[in-house]
Parts: sequence; structure tokens; C-alpha cells
Amino acid sequence: MGDPKAFLNIPRQEAGYRPISERITDYSQVEQTLNTNSRKLQASRCMDCGVPFCHWACPIGNKQPEWQDALYKGKWKKAYEILSSTCDFPEFTGRICPALCEKSCVLKLSCDQPVTIRENEAAIVEAAFREGYIQVQTPRRNGKSVAVIGAGPAGLVTANQLNQKGYTVTLFDKDEAPGGLLRFGIPNFKLDKNVIDRRMKILAAEGIRFEMGVEVDVHHLPKGFDAYCICTGTPVARDLSIPGRELKGIHFALEMLAQQNRTLEGQTFAKDKLVNAKGKKVLVIGGGDTGSDCIGTSVRQGATSVTQIEIMPKPPVGHNPATPWPQWPVVFKTTSSHEEGCTRRWCLASNQFLGKDGKVTGVEVEEVEWTPTADGGRPTMKPTGKKEVIEADLVLLAMGFLKPEQPKFPENVFVAGDADTGASLVVRAMAGGRAAAAKIDDYLTK
Ligand SMILES: Cc1cc2nc3c(=O)[nH]c(=O)nc-3n(C[C@H](O)[C@H](O)[C@H](O)COP(=O)(O)OP(=O)(O)OC[C@H]3O[C@@H](n4cnc5c(N)ncnc54)[C@H](O)[C@@H]3O)c2cc1C
Ligand code: SF4
Repeated sequence: MGDPKAFLNIPRQEAGYRPISERITDYSQVEQTLNTNSRKLQASRCMDCGVPFCHWACPIGNKQPEWQDALYKGKWKKAYEILSSTCDFPEFTGRICPALCEKSCVLKLSCDQPVTIRENEAAIVEAAFREGYIQVQTPRRNGKSVAVIGAGPAGLVTANQLNQKGYTVTLFDKDEAPGGLLRFGIPNFKLDKNVIDRRMKILAAEGIRFEMGVEVDVHHLPKGFDAYCICTGTPVARDLSIPGRELKGIHFALEMLAQQNRTLEGQTFAKDKLVNAKGKKVLVIGGGDTGSDCIGTSVRQGATSVTQIEIMPKPPVGHNPATPWPQWPVVFKTTSSHEEGCTRRWCLASNQFLGKDGKVTGVEVEEVEWTPTADGGRPTMKPTGKKEVIEADLVLLAMGFLKPEQPKFPENVFVAGDADTGASLVVRAMAGGRAAAAKIDDYLTK
């Protein structure tokens, strides 16, 4: 631990976002970075707690106190070596992880100013790329082969781990390029796609075979591999089957988000296939992160207004006694996209879509009340009869994804990531990929 008293004198400093007026005119990353000196000062705030709750909260078990100390002392290479021993791709988590670790930091509990762990992680990996610490590592082959189906974060980590152990790994994906939701879900303003491309070049040079544009039927897996890992995510979005669902102008969030990311790669779409918010009143149904990504995208596309509705009540601001430290706090959250301009409302159920000439014009919503249950379980919902119409000519459904049912696979087939757990987080999918790779290695070596 570099400076045992730094946390008393140095406040938390986030790099912050680019100004709203500037960032909504482009799709580049909104988050900025600190200079090297300020970054080291931020690292010095880590107290190296006897019980590092940050480490406990991180699904991949990052050793934050160790790399914070190295970072504070300017030992960037050492910091990267410690970080990369648990995290395959810190350039992804350093940008888009919700930082479960920071919510469990002891400085979150004591003064609500946790160490900037996620940003420090991003700084370490960017320095590693810049300084050339990340080099192609070609392992000796062990003669065994593994097929990984799905090249999202879970599949990429599984492939990376097994490739480094000497397996010949083939990564299949139905999309034209690897990344899964990192590439075709998460907007560029949160994660630039050249960050993915940079890593894919290294993985390919290290020997992973990429078979893109290949949809694999998991009931008839490609022959000739010693083991398989299914990392196909959660492809089915939750629908809203209410009257008027057939009207034009109602889309799943990912239809818009994936199309926007592909457009930025230079792809074009026929006019009747475009999902674009330009000049439209947008209604996003679903108050979570996918909904928030729809807001940022709609604002950049030129929506005239954006409203986000959620059926659940507004979470408490600041502190929630139901989720005490060091748990993940279920509290009111404002993302960079929310800051960019939208109306947010809670306790609204959608009764029916309204339309004219086959096109959506609005949604009839109804206020609901939530009553807590005596046993502390899920509260019960009651419609209040207070109805109104929210006008909209583009409705985006962002209500989550269905958990896939996996068939009973033979013993050499493993499942990881969202395909295994249901929709979750990049860092959890990466943890699942590590766990699956360890199981596959165990299976193939014993
Ligand atoms: C809009 C959006 C924003 C998000 N933002 C964040 C965020 O900011 N931070 C965060 O931590 N998490 C975020 N998430 C969640 C996160 O993206 C996922 O939890 C994570 O990507 C899951 O990884 P995965 O590898 O399991 O699946 P996926 O990323 O879904 O990848 C699955 C891959 O499998 C491929 N595939 C599917 N079926 C087949 C088949 N039959 N044959 C071949 N290939 C197939 C798909 O094409 C895809 O590439 C977000 C999710 C969405 C939808
Ligand atoms: S991966 Fe997420 S939870 Fe883990 S150290 Fe990084 S920011 Fe924190």
C-alpha cells in the first residue's frame, strides 16, 4: 500500500463525460480520461483493506488493491500483469462494467467516495496497449480441439483461456464479426468498436480460428471437436403482447441498436427496414440499461422527444435499506444518456398501442400501485384506473430477454455466459467463460 493516508486528503475524481452539446452530435465514446498524475493519485486512495470487499464483489475476482498499489507507484507493467491474471479483456470491463467493486469499496460505505476502480482498470490496459506490454503469445498446441459457439464476451474468454492452454479453438458466430452484444448491442458511445477489433487481431494472431457468419444448430454440433462450449447469449427479447402490437413503428430495442452500430460500420439498410428516431416522438418501454442505450441513440438520431416508462416504482435516491453495503445498491441511477434529454416515468403499465393507418401513434398507459408483501417477496401490483395516452411514433421495447432453455447435452458440451445464467453483465459472462474453460480443460485432461 503506497500512501496509507491518501484517502483522507485526496477526493474521488472521475474523468467525467464530454459536454452534452458536443457528444450528442457524434457516436464516439462519451467518457474522458484523467492525466497520468491524477490517475496515480486516484490509485493512491485505495486503503488495501484487510478484507477487500471490491475483490469479493468482482465476478472475475480482480485483485484491485494489488494493482492499485502498482499503479500508484508508477509500475504500469506490473499493474497490467496483475490485472490480466484475472481479467482477459480489461479494455471492455474498464469501459462498460457497472463496477460492482466500487459499490462494495469501504470508501463507498464511509464517505460515499469509492476508489475509481473501473476507470483505473481502463487506464492500466490502455497504457499496456500503448507501451507494447500486450504481445501476441502463441502457445504450444496440445493436439486437442474445442468449438466455441457464440463470440460474445463469454465465448471470447472461453476461447482465449483454452487457446492459451494449447487447445486448437474454433469460434463460430452467426454474426458477421465477433463481439456479440459488445459489438451489436452496446452503443459506440459507450464502447468504440475499434477497441474490440484491436483485441480480435491479437486473438487471431494467437491462433484462434474465427468462423463468422455461421449459424450453428446446437442440436447438431459440428463434428470433429473434442469438446464444445455453447455461448449463444439470450437471443429472444421479452415481447409486449397487448392490443395493437402489429402496428408499424413498434420495435425491439436491439433492432435499433444493432442497426445503428452496423450503420456506423458503413452498412446501409433499405428505407422500409430502417429503425430511426429522426423527427419522431420516441417512447422507450423498460427502465433499464438497454432502454437507456435507446435514449442516447434516439437523441443522436434526432428524435423530437424521448420518454422512458417503467412499470416498477422509482427506486430510492442515494440509499436503499433493502440493499445495504456491501451489496449492489438498487437505487435511482442517471446514465450519460439520461443526462442528454428524456422524460422518465415510473409505475406505468402499458394497456394498448394506438394507431392510425396501420402506424403507431401512441400507447395507452395506466398508473399502477405496488404493495409490499408480508414475507418480503415480490410486491403485488394493482392497476389504479388512472389512464392516459403517451403520444409516440416510434416505440422501443426494452423489457429484457428470455432465459434460454438448454437441451440435455452430452458430457463434452458445456454452456457459459448469458446462455447459462440468463441476461446479465459482460463481467459475469466473462467469469462464466473462465469457469467453462477450466471445466473443459479438466474434462479433456482427466
Ligand atoms: C443493449 C444492451 C446494453 C448492454 N450494456 C451493458 C453494459 O453497459 N455493461 C454490461 O456489463 N453489460 C451490458 N449488457 C449485457 C451484456 O452485453 C451481456 O450480458 C453479455 O454480452 C453476455 O455475453 P454472452 O457472451 O453470454 O452473450 P452475447 O454477448 O449475447 O453473445 C452471444 C453470441 O452468440 C451468437 N449466437 C447466438 N446463437 C448462435 C448460433 N446458433 N450459432 C452461432 N452463433 C450464435 C450471437 O450472434 C452472439 O454474437 C447490455 C446488453 C444489452 C442488450
Ligand atoms: S471488472 Fe467490474 S467489478 Fe471487476 S474490478 Fe473491473 S470494474 Fe470492478
